[in-house]
Amino acid sequence: MALVVQKYGGTSVGSIERIKSVARRVVATKNQGNQVVVVLSAMSGETDRLIGLANEINAEHSPREHDVLVASGEQVSISLLAMAVESLGEKAISFLGSQVTIKTDSDHSRARIKDIDGSRMQDALAAGFIVVVAGFQGVDAEGDITTLGRGGSDTSAVAVATALSADVCEIYTDVDGVYTTDPNICSEARKLDKISYDEMLELASLGAKVLQNRSVEFAQKYGIPIHVRSSFSDTEGTIVCKEDESMEKAIVSGVAYNKNEAKVTICGIPDRPGIAAAIFSAIAKEGIVVDMIIQNTSAEGLTDLTFTVPKLDYDHALSALEKINQEIGAREINGDKNIAKVSIVGIGMRTHASVAARMFTVLSQENINIMMISTSEIKVSCVVAEKYTELAVRVLHQEFDLAKVTTNES
Ligand code: ADP
Ligand code: ASP
Ligand code: MG
Repeated sequence: MALVVQKYGGTSVGSIERIKSVARRVVATKNQGNQVVVVLSAMSGETDRLIGLANEINAEHSPREHDVLVASGEQVSISLLAMAVESLGEKAISFLGSQVTIKTDSDHSRARIKDIDGSRMQDALAAGFIVVVAGFQGVDAEGDITTLGRGGSDTSAVAVATALSADVCEIYTDVDGVYTTDPNICSEARKLDKISYDEMLELASLGAKVLQNRSVEFAQKYGIPIHVRSSFSDTEGTIVCKEDESMEKAIVSGVAYNKNEAKVTICGIPDRPGIAAAIFSAIAKEGIVVDMIIQNTSAEGLTDLTFTVPKLDYDHALSALEKINQEIGAREINGDKNIAKVSIVGIGMRTHASVAARMFTVLSQENINIMMISTSEIKVSCVVAEKYTELAVRVLHQEFDLAKVTTNES
């Protein structure tokens, strides 16, 4: 008998009809002789709605209350699914993160899972129940509710699969698998049969929201393969696993984009030791995570510094910098929220030169100005004006021939 963990995302449980359809799939999986644990997201749009309510009542609300509120979306979906399974004549039991017990640190709204005590889930499985667990949430050492960051149910599912030594971890979503880029903005996007953890981690970290990046980190650490597939069909999806010989050998295997960052520029700061430290200490003190950083060469002892932060933290970052401007003496602090980061990812880049140059050329042919660049061993990212995101993704997808299967290293 196999133990199967299935995670269903927001769209997959977005209506009563969809929840009934998930119940049928879950029961069918059990009837094939498996034990089944289901991890659920909130119904689509619900988490956004709850965040909106919190901001409406008090934009400065405490992180603890934020998590108490936003975790409630998953409480609704798990109980509804358990009821739908019961209506099909099967036994089901729903659990909150605090009941099973998904222990996390206390970093509200981006908590990390530290440990899961699987015994209650195991007892329920042994008693013949289909177990339904709330994704996205956990409980800290104080007993307070925590949440794992947007898209966190993916991580809950992989963590539950690890804790229970599951045979399979399936992530059911609204697309057929992991594609060469977001199939909702590029009709040429092609589904991949397999993708390595390293490439998936880069794609997810660079904005491909089909998997939360922490879920991939977790799966890689514990060697759990993830099967990403559609809740709307029975087609095989994409296996995320260790790099192997049968994988495609493309130089670039995917294009990702992220519209959730903003750029901050500090102009005319003295080019001397301690200035960058003062700036980034002030930003870090506010709990703001910085992504790309660029410093210009200095002219007449002055320089400019540009960096990106999550869009949600933009105003906060500007006010933190205004507060320390006495100390750093900048001529001007400004920024831009209407940007996007477009990235190409591929293990093959390790051994091929000129990939970055091809990226810059194709963007320039479309008259897309590059504001910032960053590279690593297996990715190149460019910040461009947000309005060019879709165009940039499509031309890059075409330039690197991603619509075609690559069988030999080229
Ligand atoms: P769920 O609610 O099931 O967790 P998400 O909306 O979080 O679903 O993730 C699925 C979405 O990820 C897709 O609808 C698609 O628009 C987007 N996406 C972005 N990049 C990719 C990619 N490379 N492959 C597949 N989907 C992608
Ligand atoms: N409901 C949460 C969100 O919208 C978690 C998830 O869907 O994975 O981010
Ligand atoms: Mg998701």
